Amino acid sequence: MIRASTFKAKRVAVFGLGGSGLASARALSEGGAEVVCWDDGEAGREAARREGFEVADLAAADWSGLSCLLLAPGVPLTHPEPHWVVRLATAAGVEIIGDIEVFCRQRAALCPTAPFVAITGTNGKSTTTALTAHLLSALGFDTQMGGNIGKAILTLEAPAADRVHVIEMSSFQIDLTPSLAPSVGALLNVTPDHLDRHGTIEHYAAIKERLVIAADIAAIAIDDAYTRRAAEALEGSGRLLPFTVGKGAGVVPRLYAIGSSLFAHEISGSHATSEEIAVLEGIPSLRGRHNVQNALAALACIRGLQHLADAGRLAVAPGRRIWDIERLRDALATFPGLPHRMEEVGRLGPVLFINDSKATNADSAQKALLAFPEAIYWIAGGKPKSGGIAPLAPLFSRIAKAYLIGEAAAEFAETLQGTVPFERSGTLADALSAATRDAAASGAREPVVLLSPACASFDQFKNFEVRGDAFRDLVSAMPGVAARERRP
Ligand code: ADP
Repeated sequence: MIRASTFKAKRVAVFGLGGSGLASARALSEGGAEVVCWDDGEAGREAARREGFEVADLAAADWSGLSCLLLAPGVPLTHPEPHWVVRLATAAGVEIIGDIEVFCRQRAALCPTAPFVAITGTNGKSTTTALTAHLLSALGFDTQMGGNIGKAILTLEAPAADRVHVIEMSSFQIDLTPSLAPSVGALLNVTPDHLDRHGTIEHYAAIKERLVIAADIAAIAIDDAYTRRAAEALEGSGRLLPFTVGKGAGVVPRLYAIGSSLFAHEISGSHATSEEIAVLEGIPSLRGRHNVQNALAALACIRGLQHLADAGRLAVAPGRRIWDIERLRDALATFPGLPHRMEEVGRLGPVLFINDSKATNADSAQKALLAFPEAIYWIAGGKPKSGGIAPLAPLFSRIAKAYLIGEAAAEFAETLQGTVPFERSGTLADALSAATRDAAASGAREPVVLLSPACASFDQFKNFEVRGDAFRDLVSAMPGVAARERRP
């Protein structure tokens, strides 16, 4: 745990007592702050009381004695409207921050050049964060991963030389981190999302951009209009490390891809060279074009750290090699991937089973369909999202047959009618056995039974994780299946 000593002897309000809120309360209290906790729900308040924290209604508190409000990222800061606790803090002139801000201040106090990688984007944050952490661990670093993925940041070890923090950040977390200045900031992509919480796409893009603007090295994918604009704003600053899944436009990329081959582009004076770093083809955890972007982003973070180390601006042992292409290539091939994202869960003869339960909308399911050129036996459905699967029509030719489950079955059937053979399976178990039967009989070289529902799970499952686990368990239980163990 990080002891938040920069708040010593200060009185801090913590609002939102889920996992990260309570972790913040502990870190602040251990650092010597006086903490007062509150939450709109009784369960959170009770959890704080059980740990011995002062719990007091902030609606009735004397704000003049508070030095700041530590807010959980799920609490609305600006849109659709500020939460009451935000209004009270603002009226009292009390600063509002999140747990990553506490980390940043601690880093500034303890070791300002401690390696700190922060990663954001609309999609691919978790995969890129996990992959970057995996690569750094393979290089022998003490790697601390957390933030919006896995552990709350203040439960990690404190910033120090030769210890790298790899932190996934949502836009809500960036909004609550005014002094964010990572060693390397990575921005993957910006597409409309969470606009209910950010108002306009411009506001949302500006928040995302903040993560790279203040970074020592800004690793930016230049594949969409918003990220390209962010990159253009940093051109000539000496801090920009652009990368692209294509050839790039406007900005010259430092890392790029041709198909699934990744290249580094070095420019020194008028001399430019390109070197192949790795080929992703055949790495099961990195299937699909979207993972080319994620892999480039992870490599860009590593490249950026090396650049800072070379300039003496990173607290790592002198002469330490970070950009070690041989080792990075090997480490890419051993990336275990994240559960429920294009996760290979087993094989039955030539039939491949893929759990992509995280695909809760058409956009995500599109990434999965794009990863397999043909013979897809597609399990889709659940609680439908607006727009359904109509946007996937250009990919329907890849689908041998669809197996529809949950509330969306009727709507999806209508969209597929006359184009893709389908059956209304109802449940996941029935869909899987029918899809397996058809895939095994298809004679295709590598038919794929793909759970990529393009729907939320709540009609039949608690969440997408439970849905994905159910799929994995059902696949493993089928006779003759060679199940693929999930690695930690
Ligand atoms: P996040 O943490 O941003 O939600 P994940 O790494 O968990 O992202 O991936 C979630 C889903 O987003 C994946 O299943 C895939 O469908 C899609 N995705 C992943 N990476 C990208 C990317 N770079 N660009 C577009 N979509 C992506």
